This record gives sequence, C-alpha cells and structure tokens, in this order.
Amino acid sequence: MKLKIAIQKSGRLLDDSLKLLRECSIDFNNGPNKLRSEAYNFPLEVLFLRDDDIPQYVADGVADIGIVGENVVLEKKQDIRIVEQLGFAKCRLSLAVPKADDFDSVSFLDGKRIATSYPVILQQFLDDNNIQAEIHELSGSVEIAPGIGLADAICDLVSSGSTLFLNGLKEVGVVLKSEAVLISNQNLTDEKEKLLSKLLFRIRSVKKSRKHKYILLNAPNDKLEAICKIIPGMRSPSIIPLTIPGWSSLHSVVNEDDFWNIIENLKEQGAEGILVAPIEKMIL
Ligand code: ATP
Ligand code: ZN
Repeated sequence: MKLKIAIQKSGRLLDDSLKLLRECSIDFNNGPNKLRSEAYNFPLEVLFLRDDDIPQYVADGVADIGIVGENVVLEKKQDIRIVEQLGFAKCRLSLAVPKADDFDSVSFLDGKRIATSYPVILQQFLDDNNIQAEIHELSGSVEIAPGIGLADAICDLVSSGSTLFLNGLKEVGVVLKSEAVLISNQNLTDEKEKLLSKLLFRIRSVKKSRKHKYILLNAPNDKLEAICKIIPGMRSPSIIPLTIPGWSSLHSVVNEDDFWNIIENLKEQGAEGILVAPIEKMIL
C-alpha cells in the first residue's frame, strides 16, 4: 500500500515541491514526460498533474494528498482538507487597473468589467464588499485584457508586480494572499493517515530547519552567561572549553528571522570567530 501524492507536472510549484520531497529523504525518478513515479525509499507514489486538477483528484481519492497553491484550493471549492502551509510559491491575488485611472476605493469597481482566472474567489470578494461587477473569466494572459478593451480591471496573481507594470497596470488591492499547501482527501484509511503523519513529521522538521541556523562562536568565559541569554538554543547552548585558558566555544541554534540582530548583540558581548551553518533537519 502506498500513499499517492499529486504534484504539479510543470510550472511554478514543481521545483519547490520536488525539493521538499527530496529534503524529506524521499527519492524517485522524474523524467520530463513522466506521469507517475514510485519513491524508492518511502511508500509514496507521485502523480504529476496540472495544478488546477489537483484539488478534484484529491477530493475524488485518485490521489490521497497533493501540493497546490491555496488560491487554487479556494477557487475549486472541493471537499478536501488543508493539512499544512508549505511556505513556498508565495503570491497574492490582486486587483489592478490601468495606471492612469484614479482608483480611490473598491467601489471604483461598481459596474465595471473585471477579467480573472479566479471567478469564484473574485465573486466572493465582490459580494463581501457589496459590489456589482461583471466578471470575465479568462484562462490565461489576464493582464492584457484592459489594454485590448476586454475589461476595465483585472484580478490576477502577482508576486513582484513587474508583469502588471509592463502592461500599464497598477495594483490597487489584495484579494487573497497565497502560498503552496499540502492538501488531503477527507477519508483516508487509517493506514494512509499513518503514512501522512510520517510524511508530515518530516515536512515539519524540514520547515523548521529552514528557519534556523547552527551557530558556533568563541567567547571569554566571563561573557558566557550573557551570550547564553542571547542564543538560548533548543534546550540550552553547549559550551566546550578552548585550549587557551579563560575562553570557550559555544554552540547553539538561532532563528533566521532575527539573525542579524542576534549577531550584533553577540559581537557587543565580545563573541569572536562566529561561524554559521545551515541545518538540514531539525527535530525538537
Ligand atoms: P498549469 O499548467 O499546471 O495549470 P499554471 O499556469 O496554472 O500551470 P503556474 O503559473 O505554474 O500555474 O502557477 C502555479 C501556482 O504558483 C499558482 O497557482 C500560484 O499558487 C503560485 N504562484 C506563485 N507566484 C506566482 C506568480 N507570480 N504568478 C502566478 N502564480 C504564482
Ligand atoms: Zn494552473
């Protein structure tokens, strides 16, 4: 018995999905035209699909779990469960209008035509804001719709905003923030639930390790107490005496988010020879 996971066949989610599975020590062969593959070292079968189809396949049980953008999950409204945020493919579903338009609030959209590939999410947003607008569903190249007179505004995925800019548009509001998520069928067998928990344990330790760094430094012994307060680590730092009297080497773990502040504080406390290394897996 194998757990079946659906991932995107090609596109923005593929590389990071493969990377995540590899970092979970799950290896499989994925040739360019493969539709399915079996992992060598975990009871997992990988199905390569269009991302838009993944929620439905997971709801129907063709796949047990899947990796897909939250934006697609919300648009497809399938009966599935979001198991974990995965922290990649971050983007936002935004409203944009031609640069010259003076957009002051969402009521600008009243009576307008809006092009989008996300009609369900957009309609919900318009309803929530009491706006009557006409939705034009397009499957791609939404950003050109205002330029060719097909729509007055668009609602599309944005990461940097450069595509909007190149098409003479400006971003005027965020409808949804999205990232890749792990989704699951609602009725997995006990056996499959167990496999999912195993996979989830690995994913969480990979996610944690990405947010942390291993840090080593030298410090005079009279500063150790202050330094331990700055980098308390998981339970506590390890302290190893150096061969020079009065000095120690201290090893700990720091969070990526306040990394540079921590380094400044450590230097102020007299830390020297600070080394920082990536952590591959982190199990608390
Ligand atoms: P498919 O052929 O599989 O349907 P697609 O064109 O729908 O591919 P991609 O463009 O590869 O899909 O995007 C997949 C997902 O990546 C999106 O649904 C979204 O969650 C995420 N994403 C991240 N950044 C962006 C971005 N700048 N533009 C579009 N999608 C993005
Ligand atoms: Zn798609």
